[in-house]
This record gives sequence, structure tokens and C-alpha cells, in this order.
Amino acid sequence: MTRPIVKIIDLSALRQNALAAKKMAGQAKVWAVVKADAYGHGLFRTAKALENIVDGLALIEIDSAIRLREEGWQKEILMLQGFYDAADLTAFIQHHIQFAVHDNEQIEVIEAVCQRLPEDSTFDLYLKMNTGMNRLGFKPENYAKAYHRLKKLPQVRQIGMMTHFANADDANNSVLPFAEQVKRFKAGSAGLEGNHCIANSAAILEFPEVDFEWVRAGIMLYGATPGIKSAKDFHLIPAMSLESKLISIQEINPGDAVGYGSQFVADKPMRVAVVACGYADGYPRVAPTGTPIIVDGVKTRTVGRVSMDMLGVDVTDIPSARVGSHVELWGKNLPVDEVAEAAGTIGYELLCAVAPRVPVQEKE
Ligand SMILES: *Cc1c(COP(=O)(O)O)cnc(C)c1O
Repeated sequence: MTRPIVKIIDLSALRQNALAAKKMAGQAKVWAVVKADAYGHGLFRTAKALENIVDGLALIEIDSAIRLREEGWQKEILMLQGFYDAADLTAFIQHHIQFAVHDNEQIEVIEAVCQRLPEDSTFDLYLKMNTGMNRLGFKPENYAKAYHRLKKLPQVRQIGMMTHFANADDANNSVLPFAEQVKRFKAGSAGLEGNHCIANSAAILEFPEVDFEWVRAGIMLYGATPGIKSAKDFHLIPAMSLESKLISIQEINPGDAVGYGSQFVADKPMRVAVVACGYADGYPRVAPTGTPIIVDGVKTRTVGRVSMDMLGVDVTDIPSARVGSHVELWGKNLPVDEVAEAAGTIGYELLCAVAPRVPVQEKE
């Protein structure tokens, strides 16, 4: 017997979402963003599913990038956070892995490494601009200088230009509107030769005019959204379902409480069921009473605090519910975005957080 919880990854949903991204991106090539183990979907299975659809993989983790090459990934690879030391850089060049450059310290390392490299040991990179996010990148006014400094190196072949949006999902943000970042990016990169890559999922979905030569599609590949509309509105299909079963049912009376802290108190006779899923499986402990959940195909709500290995659900109005009934924590019938919203977070975090102890099943 195994504990009934399972994470099901739908490979055909991944493919269909990638095809949708391709189509929306028009002429632009698509980086499939597969950091964080492909947002919890499994890096290698996702890479394999998307191999014939996308143009490259973008990620953060160095070991994973090198393993992708060792396992035969032939298309482009881009390291979104670049390298952390000269050894990383040397490995990237050796494995034909592109990388973001966001700081002068990195340029110094590149110059030093290039001094020892043969001139025909060429590589491509992306130069990152800080257009207002104030995380990584060169300010627009310093950008061309960094570009020309890199361009001088004989080994540097193509320099792509990238920036990242703070508010592609909230275009009219009063502090930093989407259009302002686009304007700064265009000003800072004016006259420089190379590919431009600025669109994330939110921009691909809402602002195709900034797709340029390459886009970076992340959350949309997994059938969730960056906080705009719902995945369904864009014909995206949830690629991950977290499912489990009921393992107990309690009949409770008015005044009876459920779970740690006795935070939920019944005000009428109720049937409360226990699901084999808790925060140690990656379900958010902060999800309050009332978080949506599906039991036996019927949408209901969680009750009480989420425990480490279980959580409570209200099955008062689901007479068919019994031990062994099917539970969908999120997936095809319950968008992860809805659960995330109830828990005060975003779908990204829930997808990435499913714990290693949860078994994975693939669906073709
Ligand atoms: C994660 C990431 C993306 C993908 O963002 P989504 O909102 O998931 O599409 C794109 N670019 C960079 C630099 C990222 O770190």
C-alpha cells in the first residue's frame, strides 16, 4: 500500500501549452523557462516533452544545465542568473551554454577568462538591463558601455539584450508602468546589434508587440497564469494535478472543533473528512478554512488548520464522500491559481513546493 497522494504530470498539456506559446509569440523564438525543476514538473521530463517545440531552455541551476547537455539536449540553453565564478563561466563556455551578464564584476571575470581562452573558443551571452526592477542588470545609461566592453573580446560572438518586467501582470502599475520599462529598454539598447528578449508569460499573453526575436515563457507552459485572467481564458491546460484520497470521516456537532488550535468550530451538524495531504507534502499551511478543494468531483472547502500530513474538508453536502473518495487539491478541475489566491500566494509557489516525498506519475 502506498499513501494515496500523487502528483500527476500531463505531458500532452505541457506540449499543448508550449504550442500555444509558440503561436502567440509569432516570429519570436521561445525560451522555455524550466528553472526550479520546471516549476515542479520535472526538468528532464519537461525538456523531453518540449524538445521539438521550443527553441531553448532557460534556467538557473548550473548542475542541471550541464546534465541537460550530458543527456543530449542539443538546442540552446540560457542561464538566467548567469555565473557566480570563473569555474561556472568556463563550464558554460565548454558546454555551449549561454548566460546572463548583469554586473561589472562579471565582465571582469569574463575578460580574465578570455585572456586564457583561444580566440576561436567563441560564445554567446545576454546582457541584462535594469529597467526598474532593481534586481539584476545595468542601468539604461550604462548599458551601451558594458555592451561595447564585451563586444571587444574576440571570443564574444552574439550579445543578446534582455530585461525583466516588474509589472507585466499589472500594466498600469502607478509606480512602474509596463510601458515605462519598455521605453527604458528601447532607449538603453538603441543602436546596439543583437537579439532582444524581454517578454515573460504575462507579456506574451497580453503584449505581443514586445515579443521581438525571443521570448521567455515560464508559468504559461505549466497551464497557470501570472495573475491575469485565468489559464482557461488563454486556452492553457493545467499540467500538474495534485490528488489524494479521503482517509477518515468524522460526524461532528455544533460547537465541535477541527484540527490544531481548534480554529474551526462547527455551527451545525457536519461531516468533516480528512485528506492524506499536508504541509509536508507542499500544500500551503497558510491556506485558511474555505480554501477550494474537490472531493468526489464536487467543489467544497477546507476546514481547520492544515496539519503536516493531513487536512480537513467539509463533505456535509457530498453524501457520496467516504473513505477512499478521490480528492483534487489542484489540477484540471481546480486551477492552482484559485488555491493560491485563497492562501495569499501565487500558483508558481505552490507548483514549485510539492515535496519530494510525493510520488510522481506521468500521463501521456
Ligand atoms: C522566471 C523567469 C521568467 C519566466 O517568468 P514567467 O512569469 O513564469 O513566464 C522569465 N524571465 C526571467 C528572467 C525569469 O527569472
